Amino acid sequence: MGGGLVKTATPEPNKGPVEDRVVEPSATGCPQGQWHRRALQKIEEALQVPLLPEAARAALEAAVSELRSIHGTQTKDTASSSSYDLPVEGTSWKLMLESYTDNDPEAAEGHHMLEQKSPKRNGSGASATLKVFCRSFESMGTGMPCLSDMLQEAGQLGFDAIAFSESAEVAGQPLRVLGAHLTRSTDMWSSLRDLRFVLEPDEFQGRVSNFLGAIDFLYRADVPYHGPAHAADVMSTMEWFLQTPYVSSITNHMDHFMGLMAAAIHDVGHPGTNNMFQSKTLGPLALRYNDKSILEMMHVALAFETMLQNEATNWLELLPCDFQDSEDPAAKPANLQHYVRRGLIDMVLGTDMAKHAKKLARLQDIAQEEERGRMENVCNRPLDRTANFGQDQKKQESLERKLFVLGTALHASDISTPCKPRQLMLRWTERVLLEFWAQGDEELRLQLPISPLCDRASGRSSVAKGQLGFINFVVKPFYAPLVALVPEVQLAMELLLQNKVFWEERDSERTPYEEIFAR
Ligand code: AMP
Ligand code: ZN
Repeated sequence: MGGGLVKTATPEPNKGPVEDRVVEPSATGCPQGQWHRRALQKIEEALQVPLLPEAARAALEAAVSELRSIHGTQTKDTASSSSYDLPVEGTSWKLMLESYTDNDPEAAEGHHMLEQKSPKRNGSGASATLKVFCRSFESMGTGMPCLSDMLQEAGQLGFDAIAFSESAEVAGQPLRVLGAHLTRSTDMWSSLRDLRFVLEPDEFQGRVSNFLGAIDFLYRADVPYHGPAHAADVMSTMEWFLQTPYVSSITNHMDHFMGLMAAAIHDVGHPGTNNMFQSKTLGPLALRYNDKSILEMMHVALAFETMLQNEATNWLELLPCDFQDSEDPAAKPANLQHYVRRGLIDMVLGTDMAKHAKKLARLQDIAQEEERGRMENVCNRPLDRTANFGQDQKKQESLERKLFVLGTALHASDISTPCKPRQLMLRWTERVLLEFWAQGDEELRLQLPISPLCDRASGRSSVAKGQLGFINFVVKPFYAPLVALVPEVQLAMELLLQNKVFWEERDSERTPYEEIFAR
């Protein structure tokens, strides 16, 4: 296992953290100089776009100067500087589940008496932008499906968010492109206008598009799993949930829009290391958020800061503060800005895996209630399809349940990769493992205990077991009550069960890592 940098049979530029990656242009059939020239041309075109968000403009300008200054190679092989020879403890799902619980954060913190600060990982924003462009150009002429074919699958479980996000036509802005597609295909803007949720629909639509473009640039392209493709995948899967009869029966168009925005922002700025890593390294985010839902707090805060720092991205301020529900004229006017801000905060904070067990317990209760109601042929669904924003107690309860269902849909989307068709599931699994292991490498380098599932050495020989643990202890128990609530989720469950059989076979055959992910 000494010095074993993971290299797949077909090297891909976006696998693994940037410092661990070996990018060999010749292996991708796309000479780097040519990438650079075309990237430069495209970036310069992009800079001409009116109302380009500040963050995007800054990143693009930095990428231009970087491109102009680079001649020669960007490649770097740090295999020799990383050691995988140290003895490491095996990981177990029990440990991992324990690490998800934050019942006693102070006790957990006691285990992490460490002085080192979080190291700065990976390249600059400019390098990340550059990578996105280079990656986009790499896909040209490789026979990948065209954008419109890929978008046909958006909002379905078979959507290939990785190919989509890396396609040249998306030009590094998957959330912006996917957001435009999903809102157009569901007639979102005219519905929001007709129901008077939004009074200036054209301006609103433009600002949402600018906002999603700015968020795209804040996802780090050099992070193997929690990059822009993951956000696009979760957004598409969230759309799938939102389209189901149960979820659409209890939500209105504003909720639907809010659900898509929550998915888009839910991991923005993710550094590629988890909450445990932030707190045990006493990293700046852990200090800022006092070890509580550290990354999730950062994702929401970053999203709102980005939105508010530029009028061109600030769609929130266009929502009415005195919305009058036309179907409930007796209701007091509602402040939609407050409603949407609260909804986004709730949903994104709810993606913290530490909240998983609590969420599951409530989901089981709601699913049982729903089943009982169906058996007794009683409709006990909250009648809040129209906009009631929780003004009396009954409405408050309906509102709480609606937000819970939305948060559940987002969390389910977030852990949905084992419920995807096999080839997609495998690509996501490989990425999540590369990210976990890069964290483990960093922990080794810092002489810290390796976090559960982050040990590259033992992880490589127990991929199937690890995935079976994730399926059996996390995903399947969550999706089972969801099927009772949302019958269409049965499709996801069937894919999950097929993938479970796949991993059981790989486990019994002890299939090596390279063979599992061979393409
Ligand atoms: P998030 O970090 O918001 O994406 O939350 C989802 C979490 O689920 C990830 O951080 C991982 O801990 C976990 N996860 C997702 N997919 C997998 C997988 N295939 N294997 C193990 N853990 C996973
Ligand atoms: Zn996520």
